[in-house]
Amino acid sequence: MSGRILIVDDVATNRIVMKVKLSAARYEVVPASSGAEALAIAEAGGIDIIIMDMMMPNMNGAETCCKLRANPATATIPVILVTASEDTQARMEGLSAGADDFLSKPVDEVALLARVRSLLRAREEEREFEARSGALLEMSAPVATGFAEAGGQAAFQTAPSLPGAGEATPLTEGRIAIVGGPDATWLPLQRDRLRPLFRETVRIVGRDAALAMTSETAPDLFLIDADLGGRNDGLRLMSELRSRAATRHAAFLILLPPGDSERAATALDLGAADVGYHPFPVDEIAMRIRTQLARKKRADKMRDTLDTGLKLAVIDPLTGLHNRRYGLSHLNRVATRCRAQGIRAGVVLMDIDHFKQVNDTYGHPAGDIVLAKVAQTLDNSLRHEDLVARIGGEEFLAILPDTDVNQMRFVAERLRSAVEELRITIPGGEVLQVTLSIGVALLEDRDDAASRAIETADKALYSAKGDGRNRVRIASVA
Ligand code: GH3
Ligand code: MG
Ligand code: MG
Repeated sequence: MSGRILIVDDVATNRIVMKVKLSAARYEVVPASSGAEALAIAEAGGIDIIIMDMMMPNMNGAETCCKLRANPATATIPVILVTASEDTQARMEGLSAGADDFLSKPVDEVALLARVRSLLRAREEEREFEARSGALLEMSAPVATGFAEAGGQAAFQTAPSLPGAGEATPLTEGRIAIVGGPDATWLPLQRDRLRPLFRETVRIVGRDAALAMTSETAPDLFLIDADLGGRNDGLRLMSELRSRAATRHAAFLILLPPGDSERAATALDLGAADVGYHPFPVDEIAMRIRTQLARKKRADKMRDTLDTGLKLAVIDPLTGLHNRRYGLSHLNRVATRCRAQGIRAGVVLMDIDHFKQVNDTYGHPAGDIVLAKVAQTLDNSLRHEDLVARIGGEEFLAILPDTDVNQMRFVAERLRSAVEELRITIPGGEVLQVTLSIGVALLEDRDDAASRAIETADKALYSAKGDGRNRVRIASVA
């Protein structure tokens, strides 16, 4: 995985040492010698990760990180801070400024590269989401009015709400599950220390309970000891949980014995979002949990956006039926499958009679109510395997697989009379009635069966209109 990494350090030698390590691993490196320069480069775009010295004149690493987080253009770029000391005060300052991790000098190369891989992976995922959602937003633009307000694009621009250094830290929302070994005496103690910091639940669960979780009971974040009953049991549990639908999207934070940076690298490569060391200081772990929860919430939001986008791309928002695009592509698939299997299938093309008069007499909103009601009636009158789509303003298409011409006639007649019998009450109290003209065609055994069926059904529909409307006509080829 390649990535562009911004190295920020006021000492040239440090930049060079870091550049050598990263270039050897095939990362592209961009240097900056001050916080101000880093902000400008990051804002210009194209940076995947920032590795920044904590101690710099004018603006230190934590201050720079705060500024990055406050700017929507740079808010989600992962930041690793580097410090000369094991100074807890500095670590807390950095983490509360929104840094993703902290490394001590001299920087352990294995730990550094594992961390870079893990952050790049997370960033790549976010990018992928953005690209897919962006395409969907474009595709569904004509029908998707109000989508952006419904949490669409906005979701990508929202910076994680991270508390500034020194501010009172607000409670963070999120469900946390702690998994420790059978004789982990630290469990209840650390749980009770974490509890007041998080708005939702912090609970201790056993290995088996974790594996039995459903999407309803799954936490947002797992805090797992690398060694449960035996060495690496926690790492194995994480891999297992990451392969299950219910727990796949949770964030994982692995706890290790002090100084075990080699297994930290393994944990990150196995998909841990972060690692911590025993005896973990609660403030620091809480800070790391917050960062991961913010990341996870962002991913959840993007996943929702994608689901909504997918729906919008295929559903007509007024009636809830499939839209024209989906209806026609479905018809193509049915045509191909039925032809291959020698199965009969057909299409029913329907158009509401004198619908313009409904709009002209009662107004467009009343017309919309009529459309929705007719759509619902058509949908309710068909089999599960049939599909009905709204393919025009007041035009509908039903696709009926495994149906011969007599059944087609029967179904079309049923649809016609179901709509004729509808009594639609509009605001104001009037009760409206509408009728359908219907053209029916069978899919023929030919390459262009789908478009041909639509064409012939359309002709049949036209003659139904000409013959006085509110009637069914079967295309002659059938
Ligand atoms: P015909 O019996 O020949 O089909 O007559 P018609 O009036 O139904 O046909 P025409 O094609 O002249 O008019 C269709 C009308 O459907 C015109 C248009 O304003 C209305 N329409 C199309 N889409 C919508 C919609 O989403 N909502 C509402 N309320 N009306 C729509
Ligand atoms: Mg019409
Ligand atoms: Mg029409």
